[in-house]
Amino acid sequence: MPLKEINIFRRHGSQYVPDLRKVRLPEIFRGKPVIGHYITPAEGHLAMNLCPTGAVGLLPANPDADHGLYTIDLGKCVFCRECEFALPGKIRFTGDYKMATNVRERLVVVSGGDQPAGLDPGKVRKEIRSFFKHALKLRQVSAGGDNSTEMELNAAGNVNFDMGRYGIEFVASPRHADGIVITGPISENMAEALQICYDAIPTPKIIILAGTDAISSGIFSGSPALNRTFLNHHYVDLYVPGNPPHPLTFINGVLDLIGRL
Ligand code: SF4
Repeated sequence: MPLKEINIFRRHGSQYVPDLRKVRLPEIFRGKPVIGHYITPAEGHLAMNLCPTGAVGLLPANPDADHGLYTIDLGKCVFCRECEFALPGKIRFTGDYKMATNVRERLVVVSGGDQPAGLDPGKVRKEIRSFFKHALKLRQVSAGGDNSTEMELNAAGNVNFDMGRYGIEFVASPRHADGIVITGPISENMAEALQICYDAIPTPKIIILAGTDAISSGIFSGSPALNRTFLNHHYVDLYVPGNPPHPLTFINGVLDLIGRL
């Protein structure tokens, strides 16, 4: 190996992540939030008012409690941290990147709650684990996406994360795919193309929504430029939150879905 390459290699060290299940991400990463047990109504309303996507909510009042149970819906959250800055010590974004789930309700984090995380194995379709446990090819469709989630999905296959080691790869044609990964809020202009792509994938096939925009339409919620009727007709197998999602959130979610330890 030429001297220059040897020096570069020595400076950079090994970039390969050996165990994608046990990575500790730097402090700057914003993963699953924790909401303190005691949030006063004034604090709760402050967070609700400043949240740009309506991700902060309030559970129906418990008549015996002197405070409300506030929630953060990770399917709507854009991880801007405004609520954390406004309520330091009450809301904290942790380094937990294992946020993907197959149950939409599990994306809702409750104050002081110990709600279940991850996938509900009982709700994973049987054919997913029997067909795709050892190899899964995915077709990605950017349905009005801004390229951020798309870049992170691309990174999931690079030399660092290398999800190809598990037989999980993106392919160019839906004919060669076992499932579809949707990014973006699903614009009207992409609605038909998305349906055509889905129809071209042989059955059984899976659907993954990657990123806040795909899960809830995020900051584009209510826009007349969107057409999300596709989601009314199809079962979603995996929700991967994040704005954009970290490659580790995506990879760990897919591994859990296909039943790889
Ligand atoms: S971090 Fe999420 S919940 Fe908090 S204000 Fe931003 S979008 Fe809303």
